[in-house]
Amino acid sequence: MKILVINAGSSSLRYELFSSKLVSLSEGYIQRIGQKGQTKDHLTAVKNALDTLLKENAISQLSEIKAVGHRVVHGGEKYTKPTRITTSVQKEIRRLCKIAPLHNPPNLEGIRACQKLLPKAVQVAVFDTAFHQTLPQKAFMYALPYLMYEKQGIRRYGFHGTSHAYISKETRKLLKKKSSKIVTCHLGNGSSITAIQNGKSIDTSMGFTPLEGVPMGTRSGNIDPAIALKLTEKRTPAQVDHLLNHESGFKGISGLSSDMRDLLKTRKTRKKSQLSIDMYTYRIAQYIAAYSASLKGLDAITFTGGIGQNSGYIRAQICQYLTHLGVKLDAAKNRTNKKLISTKGSKIKVMVIPTDEEKEIATQTLRLI
Ligand code: ADP
Repeated sequence: MKILVINAGSSSLRYELFSSKLVSLSEGYIQRIGQKGQTKDHLTAVKNALDTLLKENAISQLSEIKAVGHRVVHGGEKYTKPTRITTSVQKEIRRLCKIAPLHNPPNLEGIRACQKLLPKAVQVAVFDTAFHQTLPQKAFMYALPYLMYEKQGIRRYGFHGTSHAYISKETRKLLKKKSSKIVTCHLGNGSSITAIQNGKSIDTSMGFTPLEGVPMGTRSGNIDPAIALKLTEKRTPAQVDHLLNHESGFKGISGLSSDMRDLLKTRKTRKKSQLSIDMYTYRIAQYIAAYSASLKGLDAITFTGGIGQNSGYIRAQICQYLTHLGVKLDAAKNRTNKKLISTKGSKIKVMVIPTDEEKEIATQTLRLI
């Protein structure tokens, strides 16, 4: 028996095949879906992925794939766990496109493609928002008229849930403590910080959409909401949306790039590269400190994602604001991306753990079936 994991984005598709023991057998990434002269659509992309798996002998026939785990970004308030995809579940994912117009539609395309090409396999949705459904109401509400929540579902949902769930599980294994207070920092193109008590998410920095929280590659993160209104004086709402999601963050501040590697390379010669880094690390440290209040204590801080896993400089910049809490980094271990990068005497353990969202989706899919 094999499990296929599908992560269908607007113009790309990531896939990974796992054995029943959750060993990765093969993976691939198909880009530029829907662009001229490239892969036509998600159906073609899944077909190409399956052809590759057959050609590589990762499977000898399609019927070996007994289940497909799909990453679905938005599960609203309804889905708190991985869910077998039935007609009514599919309808609900479609209904949620209203609040996740960028993410849920391509996820649905991936589901439809797999239903067509692997009709006998069980299709399972693993939602990015599900892990954060344990947030208490005081943390997920916005102080808007209550009707906005009741009628329009305007509340904090949080994202990157599969990654935070995986990282918190791995951190707890290393902590070897029954009760634990952890802050996980997923720092990639998108970045989010989560407060986790005894394995449950109790607060997270992304909100109604992934735009809230710390500055990111191209997203602004938190701004005074009145700025968005001011911007609509000369722009349409769609233009403001584009500006905040695609032209801001590192790209907007540095005027150079949304890629952290470019900022690190140029930080000594370009003031705006250093400024982007300083704004990013300052805000992340503030979230960690705020969440130590939410958790009423802190046992561990864990870094993951392309930036969190690879940049000792960024981690050191963040942790320098946290020494009063008792955080002490071991400089050599931090520089070489070791798993435990705090010193023996540090009151709070600081860790680096590579995320594996695909494996977590496969684990949850296998558990369900
Ligand atoms: P995504 O959020 O799209 O999954 P990743 O988690 O791969 O993306 O993170 C991408 C980010 O990680 C980019 O900003 C990239 O510059 C950064 N990154 C990758 N490798 C390094 C590195 N060695 N040092 C610093 N940043 C890195």
